[in-house]
Amino acid sequence: MRGSPRRLRIAARVAILLAALVAGGAAPLAADPLPAQALAAQAPRIADYDIAVRLDADAKRLDGTVRLTWRNTSSDVVPDLWFHLYLNAFRDRDSTFWRESRGQLRAVPMATDGWGRIDVTAMRIAGGADLLPALTFEAPDDGNGKDRTVARLRLPQPIAPGGTIALDITFRAVLPKAYARTGYAGDYFLVAQWFPKVAVYEPAGMRGRAAGGWNAHQFHANSEFYADFGHYRVAITAPRRFVIGATGVRTARVDHANGTTTHTYEQGNVHDFAWTASPHFVEITRRYVAAREVTSRAYADAAARLGRSIDELRLGDVEVRLLMQPDHLPQAERYLRATMQAITAFGLAFGRYPHATLTIVDPPESAIGTAGMEYPTFITAGTLTLFNTWPFDRVYEPEIVVVHEFAHQYFQGMLASNEFEEAWLDEGMTEWATGWLLDDVLGRDRSFLQLAGLSVGDLDYQRLSLTRARGAEMIRQPSWSYHTGYAFNSYGRPALTLRTLSRLLGRQTMARIMRTYAERWRFGHPSSDDFYRVASEVAGRDLTPFFRQTIESAAVIDYAVWAVDQEAGHTTVTVRREGDLQIPIPVAFKFAGRPVERRTWDGVERWTRFTFEYPEPLEWVDVDPDRDVALDLSWLNNGRVVSADRRAPVAMTSRWLLVVQQVLGWLAF
Ligand SMILES: [Zn+2]
Repeated sequence: MRGSPRRLRIAARVAILLAALVAGGAAPLAADPLPAQALAAQAPRIADYDIAVRLDADAKRLDGTVRLTWRNTSSDVVPDLWFHLYLNAFRDRDSTFWRESRGQLRAVPMATDGWGRIDVTAMRIAGGADLLPALTFEAPDDGNGKDRTVARLRLPQPIAPGGTIALDITFRAVLPKAYARTGYAGDYFLVAQWFPKVAVYEPAGMRGRAAGGWNAHQFHANSEFYADFGHYRVAITAPRRFVIGATGVRTARVDHANGTTTHTYEQGNVHDFAWTASPHFVEITRRYVAAREVTSRAYADAAARLGRSIDELRLGDVEVRLLMQPDHLPQAERYLRATMQAITAFGLAFGRYPHATLTIVDPPESAIGTAGMEYPTFITAGTLTLFNTWPFDRVYEPEIVVVHEFAHQYFQGMLASNEFEEAWLDEGMTEWATGWLLDDVLGRDRSFLQLAGLSVGDLDYQRLSLTRARGAEMIRQPSWSYHTGYAFNSYGRPALTLRTLSRLLGRQTMARIMRTYAERWRFGHPSSDDFYRVASEVAGRDLTPFFRQTIESAAVIDYAVWAVDQEAGHTTVTVRREGDLQIPIPVAFKFAGRPVERRTWDGVERWTRFTFEYPEPLEWVDVDPDRDVALDLSWLNNGRVVSADRRAPVAMTSRWLLVVQQVLGWLAF
């Protein structure tokens, strides 16, 4: 999901992606070939769903039947099944979700006349007795006995290793008034987290587990995604006037005599299914044709960067289906262009988007809480009518949201990390990838805002979050256990950490790390440790110390020039490190009439002193002159101008950044 629909922040994002229409591309880099690795074509098929659901649009109600086929791919005997019943998060004030969010999420308050719920009314092994009496509610995360978002079914017969169980489930659900992620606003429905969904059985060894067991989490204010892959077939019956959009490919449409229509959608290799219904959608379809969208230059650049053959990188075609609000129609092309570009950029970087369709829902402003959400092959965008016309049509937030949500097709949809326990692997990587794409297309210093001569990079925008550095907590922890710092530690800080890593290792090595990670763990539920291993392997050195200090620590860093002393041909410069993060760093010195001199400091001690025996005066000194350490809390104290040379680059940088920080700080927070 996208942090929050903060409208002032949206207003600050003028002019991003202006040049998004211009294909960018760096010069090819020298390449050592990486071992070729075929992209997995199929996910492990563990949880298949065959669902029939009927929407009562007036009562905001769903009636459904589910045939769940679950395969025990472990070598364990499994005695029970655990389910997510996530609409119960909206059931009352006793749910863990309500307690955590206190009825307000992403700046949108919940209407207290719009509760939602799901009740399982029958559950039986195909043709057998009703098992409902054996279903109990569980609260594995917080022991909240009144939360009903996780349920456990004790089976009359355990499931043997390699065995399969087929369950028939009947349910009735009431959708909440949309304020967060799912629900309705008038006759608009965004139906997510809506059916009884089996949790993930993790065998020993998976994600570092010592023993096999279920991984099930309650629905939380900050996280909601972790599920197994399978094949979905969902038949949605709704009044005929509704336009329906859903995960996957529509395989049938049947009109009934009673004025309803059944739309059937199917999709394999996904771990979730969401859909939408509204009579007001304007449907726009556009085919992404790889042969047209990807230039041979783009293929060649990517192949060189990744050390792969062009044939390995070929992308496939995608049917893009956009469901627009009529009053947002002038922005349709913008959504589409950004989407096409993201399919190209992320496809080349992280592997081909494997699905035939992508559906983008543009929610009405009355349901802004459903904007900026990700589900497999199905994302929600988000914009305002205000942005239809000049000068607000140069506010590029709609494009950014689409790019962010499409990036989730990789980190949430295909890698499918455990967002509850390691949100950074999903949101942090998604945020990093979004910034990387914008920088790549627009330039590092312009990717956030270009307006009337002022240009700002996404990096500068990201770095604003560092003003919240006092909220630094360990990044890798369950999303509900942060003190207050979920957003900073799951989005901005990991994105800046990956940016820092990329600058330290070089762009090519970083590209190869991310490619290898996305490829090896496609459909694989990787953990942070799995990422660390891939990164170390591709970089050719142990990066674990870096990750222990950044991802698994609350450490921050701030380099500063502390003191400059000059007398009689003798100069000493003292450089300090505030914070506990240790990163080796270059320091640049410029003496009058001499070339810039660089020294490296290992950054281990709190401070160090550089000594020079030059007769010339020191003009300026700059710590981390290339600004590689994006995690540095403040760049304003990295440099010091000693002489009065107004052309000193460090002074320019400082003044410029000060202005930018003030302007953006005022606009965005
Ligand atoms: Zn997100």
